[in-house]
Amino acid sequence: MIEMQDVWKTYPDGTHAIRGINLKVDRNEFVYVVGPSGAGKSTFMKMIYREEKPTKGHIFVNGFNLAKLKPRKIPFLRRNIGVIFQDFRLLPKMTVSENIAFAMEVIETPKKLIRKRTLEVLELVKLRDKADSLPTQLSGGEQQRVAIARAIVNSPSVIIADEPTGNLDPDTSWDIMKLMEEINYRGTTIIMATHNKEIVNSMRKRVIAVEKGLIARDQARGDYGYED
Ligand code: ADP
Ligand code: ADP
Repeated sequence: MIEMQDVWKTYPDGTHAIRGINLKVDRNEFVYVVGPSGAGKSTFMKMIYREEKPTKGHIFVNGFNLAKLKPRKIPFLRRNIGVIFQDFRLLPKMTVSENIAFAMEVIETPKKLIRKRTLEVLELVKLRDKADSLPTQLSGGEQQRVAIARAIVNSPSVIIADEPTGNLDPDTSWDIMKLMEEINYRGTTIIMATHNKEIVNSMRKRVIAVEKGLIARDQARGDYGYED
């Protein structure tokens, strides 16, 4: 469902962030992306949801050829990809349910369905009692659960998570990981960049290590493999 063929990314200032990546990720896989800071993990992930374009090579996501994707088609790709960030990126003036509903409004989901689906995902992330709270009234872990609810509300086939537990304490990180596992179990492919050694080592999922813009290691039931 995701395929990269000799993908390169050179930023306008000449930085070679990705230097020839070949990769296949199947439907319903759970993939950890590990590696030192500056290795190219974020760039790799951004290319999958077309936040960055490859300089060279081909990327296929659900049959979309991203190199040839017309700007007006990007919303159709994004509908199939949910993105989760380290810093949550909720809209601060909207309540929890408004943040989630907004992701459906932008793709013109009927109002009745928006209400129903918002309740469903709030249930899944166990935040029904916080539906009318503002993000600032929530803990970090709760904010990340809202971000996860927003990312899954349109039933994407892929979730891209860039250090989703980076700002959370260990217990809260585990809650988030259990939720990610549940989402994967329900049929969503997950690609997650992380520096959380404990989580990677205990989950035993596929691990892709990126170093200097290349895949240095790709293991089926892998481990973190670095000391930090
Ligand atoms: P990681 O996520 O593994 O820390 P990044 O993908 O953020 O790595 O960065 C890879 C390399 O590309 C680094 O050298 C970084 O400084 C550089 N880089 C990232 N974004 C940009 C950008 N917008 N412009 C120029 N260089 C960038
Ligand atoms: P910018 O590049 O201006 O930071 P982005 O496109 O990265 O804007 O994101 C704008 C907002 O939309 C962010 O809050 C981000 O969380 C959300 N967002 C972007 N792409 C997706 C996506 N594919 N799925 C869910 N939310 C997304």
